[in-house]
Amino acid sequence: MIKYLSANYIFPVSTEPLKDGVVSVNDKGEITKVFDRDAAESITDPIEKHEGIIVPGFINSHCHLELSHLHQSLPKGQGLISFVNAVLKERQAEDAVITAAMKKADKMMFDNGIVAVGDISNNILSKKVKQESKLYYHTYVEMMGFNPEKAEEAFEQGLALKEQFYPLPASVTPHSAYSVSKELFKNFRNYSEGKDNLFSLHNQETEEENKLYRYKTGAFLEFYQSMGLDVEFFKPQARNSVQSIIPLLPKDQKILLVHNIYTSLKDIYFVRRFGRDITWCFCPNANLYIENRLPKLDMFLPHDFNITIGTDSLASNDKLSVLSELVTLQKSFPAIPLTTTLKWATLNGARFLGIDAELGSIERGKKPGLNLITDTQGVKLSEKSSIKRLV
Ligand SMILES: [Zn+2]
Repeated sequence: MIKYLSANYIFPVSTEPLKDGVVSVNDKGEITKVFDRDAAESITDPIEKHEGIIVPGFINSHCHLELSHLHQSLPKGQGLISFVNAVLKERQAEDAVITAAMKKADKMMFDNGIVAVGDISNNILSKKVKQESKLYYHTYVEMMGFNPEKAEEAFEQGLALKEQFYPLPASVTPHSAYSVSKELFKNFRNYSEGKDNLFSLHNQETEEENKLYRYKTGAFLEFYQSMGLDVEFFKPQARNSVQSIIPLLPKDQKILLVHNIYTSLKDIYFVRRFGRDITWCFCPNANLYIENRLPKLDMFLPHDFNITIGTDSLASNDKLSVLSELVTLQKSFPAIPLTTTLKWATLNGARFLGIDAELGSIERGKKPGLNLITDTQGVKLSEKSSIKRLV
């Protein structure tokens, strides 16, 4: 049985928006055809007509399912280091509590039209939820270790955890420039040689990270001290963090840099010149939650970069909704059209995860999931826009 769906606009993402377009889909959720208004006149079967915009299922490029139980418990606007300290202090809870919160978060993402997630994990707890979920999950097993003497040990532990996630798709990744030693970065480079291993790093989420790398000053020094870590070994690099770590990352792997709030124009040119396979992931609502500041998106736009969208976790977001991230972007960067931000939120994320043969755009043969965005204003979103899953 073929269903015909129409709305004021269809955004296939891989091609231009279609005013009054129609998309046909079979029982399995597979797109059988996309019609523009003229071609749709030949359809003799009934057409289900909606008010709004039909878009493919969203890809959430950055989440931490295992922090879901911290929903609405950490204060806003305190800056990243306070936030990290609070997470470290508050994240302990009973497995049952964490699992129940993860299930709820998974359902929230489903209801908000998300079909795939790049999820950071530091332990195995999320495996069962992911296995039972209707969503596709890629797990980034994340490692930390700023003490160079502990690099081997940290890496072995991380690899063992990655094995535990089998058969779910998983890779190992460094957490950030401020939490991973040069030695540990080298372990990642050696390990990923000759195999596919998606990287996802938190990047420049606070200006303190740049201060640490440029001058060895700032709040991270107190942070290390409070953890009992002597950072005598660390030498200031006289340049921003991202410029210091890019050369440590492998050439032939896809690398997601997440947040990028304090990335400078100079950093962008440096990254361009260095020829790594970089995708930039933005999580605007989490940035407002933690740092009360947004990345300078305008600087990234002229470079034809790969860009994706993430929600981050419920510890730093009121909800897990890619649409809500798009509404925030439209409010803060009204000149960026929905066709652009929607591509970040769908096809680009699917490409990064290597699942774009099936997901990310409305094209014949794909099973991307279909969302209706309601309360739109022409080809723009409104504060009231919400999601209805059609397929
Ligand atoms: Zn994160």
